[in-house]
Amino acid sequence: MAKKKATKKSATKKSTTKNAVNAKKRATKRVKSEEQLVLQTVRGMRDILPGDQAYWQQIRKVFEKRATEYGFSRIDTPIIEFENIFTRPIGIGTDIVDNEMYSFRTKGGDKVALRPEMTASIARAYIQHGMMILPKPVKLFSIGPAYRYDRPQEGRYREFHQAEFDIFGEEDPILDAQVMQIAYRVLTSLGIKNIQFSVNSIGTTESRKDYLKLLKTYFRSKKNKLPSRYRDMIDTNPLRIFDAKDDKCIQVCAGAPQSIDHLDKDSRDHFKNLLEYLDELNLPYTIDPQLVRGLDYYTRTVFEISSNDENGKKHALGGGGRFDGLIEMFGGEPTPAIGFAFGVDRLIMEMKRVKAKKFKEQQPRVFLAQLGDLGKKKSLQLFADIEQAGILVAESFGRGSLQKQLRHANKLGVELTLIIGQQEALDETVIVKNMVTGTQETVARDKAITFVKKGLKQTVKLVKTK
Ligand code: AMP
Repeated sequence: MAKKKATKKSATKKSTTKNAVNAKKRATKRVKSEEQLVLQTVRGMRDILPGDQAYWQQIRKVFEKRATEYGFSRIDTPIIEFENIFTRPIGIGTDIVDNEMYSFRTKGGDKVALRPEMTASIARAYIQHGMMILPKPVKLFSIGPAYRYDRPQEGRYREFHQAEFDIFGEEDPILDAQVMQIAYRVLTSLGIKNIQFSVNSIGTTESRKDYLKLLKTYFRSKKNKLPSRYRDMIDTNPLRIFDAKDDKCIQVCAGAPQSIDHLDKDSRDHFKNLLEYLDELNLPYTIDPQLVRGLDYYTRTVFEISSNDENGKKHALGGGGRFDGLIEMFGGEPTPAIGFAFGVDRLIMEMKRVKAKKFKEQQPRVFLAQLGDLGKKKSLQLFADIEQAGILVAESFGRGSLQKQLRHANKLGVELTLIIGQQEALDETVIVKNMVTGTQETVARDKAITFVKKGLKQTVKLVKTK
């Protein structure tokens, strides 16, 4: 009996151990599969490869130049903010807030989000750093990434980049016209053509109340013609139905009352003055009474910028408008404001589409080749000396034979190649090969830089007369 019990006990122990081992195996397998390396960017995110960098450089250069010319100061805000910095002004019920925000809790319990756009962050910074005491208008410019969990497709990414221009503290429509002028000048400087602005006024929050009542009544009467996902918006925010791309919505919206027919006198005058400024500046615009830009913070002027291709297709590049109530919504003093954002990724697509002149990256004019251990050692200092003399120089320190290095120099299209072998290293000399004429000369190491400078001047003349 005692033996039987012992056997049973040992069998139970054995099976428990077996189960534990199996569980451990399963867990290890799971962890292993969870930890499998996926050598791909996360969906909707992209690498910006060296081949595209010239476009990015050109864009940053143009933006910074225009920003300085128009008196904008650069500001960089963090990519992460408290979530309600975005949810409050952008508004519950918008695609951005309801579906597209990367929101999460930090280990410390803060509710934060990756910025889906920049305006709210810049307004937060304006208040936090007491910029209201600065002489008005306060002009701020920013460029950087933004994040929206949207369905990725051509030109729509989950990480994308915006360049933003905002002006705080002035309600004169001349500033609305000025930001549109900057937008236009940026695009023309980038070689983008057939630019078109769509512009509209949605009035002030106060004056919009009566218009919204009318709009609700209209949409209620057409409720059955609207796809179900838009029906709820009738009571929460009917303006957003204008943003829908759905054909049925577009048809219903075509007959809807329009905001510009229901503006208060101030907003009407403001809009009229803006149009006069745009005419004066000769900016290409059309009034689009259906344009509302569905974020809660917009007031009065709203506009979008696109370029049109030969088939009449619009390529949306950016948009903006007035956000006169935003600073107050954040608890600051009433501060009128206007701004806009370009989608930088879209600008690059457009530059490529229209084959805009690509920013030429500076090409090296000199190549430094070396042979043998001593030559290699000496070439490091010579490389630094050439570079310090302001001459763009390339090398391929890792590449073995002289032949391979010269082939590389040829590919780069340099004008001069400097060669230091074992003998030159011992003699404190350098061979300078002129890649345009094919001649070569040995010069003293301490005269090499002067010689190179002279040589480059001559090759410029040679290339010009060729
Ligand atoms: P919005 O404020 O949504 O009109 O965005 C301003 C500009 O940013 C748009 O006109 C686009 O050029 C660009 N943009 C917005 N969302 C994306 C996205 N998901 N991917 C790439 N560009 C975007």
